[in-house]
Amino acid sequence: MRFISIFFLCFLSMPALAIELKGNFTQGGYVYGQVEKGQNIYLNDSKINTDKDGYFLFGFNREYPETATLTIKNERGEITETKKLKIKQRDYNIERIDGLPPSKVTPRTEEQQAQISKEWTIKQDAYKDIQSGNGFTQKFIQPVEGRFSGFYGSQRILNGEPRRPHFGLDIAAPKGTNPMDYIGTPIKSPADGIITLARKNMYFEGNMVFIDHGQGLVSIMMHLEDINVEKGEHVKQGDIIGTLGMTGRATGPHLHWGLRLNGGIHLDPQLMIEDNQSYAYND
Ligand SMILES: [Zn+2]
Repeated sequence: MRFISIFFLCFLSMPALAIELKGNFTQGGYVYGQVEKGQNIYLNDSKINTDKDGYFLFGFNREYPETATLTIKNERGEITETKKLKIKQRDYNIERIDGLPPSKVTPRTEEQQAQISKEWTIKQDAYKDIQSGNGFTQKFIQPVEGRFSGFYGSQRILNGEPRRPHFGLDIAAPKGTNPMDYIGTPIKSPADGIITLARKNMYFEGNMVFIDHGQGLVSIMMHLEDINVEKGEHVKQGDIIGTLGMTGRATGPHLHWGLRLNGGIHLDPQLMIEDNQSYAYND
């Protein structure tokens, strides 16, 4: 009996166990972990969603500041742990082009404009269609072999006017090969997931597929030649979801692979296939 009470005293006086976080503490990265039942997790005072098994994830967008505060509360709302996180800041490739003649882009027709806004709504609805599953805990695989031709975060400033940054990784035909021969190359799902969008002939994106890897972490695959999956379908890492193409507004055959969390946080898919994930707290 005496032994037991000493045991419990020791147990109670131990500091709260730190939860383990895995992922990339980097702009464009995401981090995941698991809390126990009843525990709630907050990032800078915003509550982070946890699934039925206590899994959570959160991401850092392109401009995320250098520090963030993580707080864990118990079921009574008492803070059990606070951690300062350090987020690695990145330099992006910014290209300034001045002295361009005023844009000669033909204005879009009313019909094209209507198509664009309709498709915008369809995409927003798909982002809200959040799935369970934890493909996000896997190490991602590269969906197709090739040459990286466009990178996350890069931006062009034309005549002093910043354009929307490029949010994704472009994969094009390997050097020394005919780009046209690259059309039809199978594209693999980078991780397990559920298809939340499979739509053809979109104005910008062409044939496009969304794969939700769990909790709203979505791979966005654009400009496909063919689509091999349907909305609602479960896919495993490595399953073929379609083939590479140049549909939509693409200047050549390539895969644009985007990664978003909860529709609004743009992440860098390239980080997910590299061996640079840091483990546990980063302080
Ligand atoms: Zn792209």
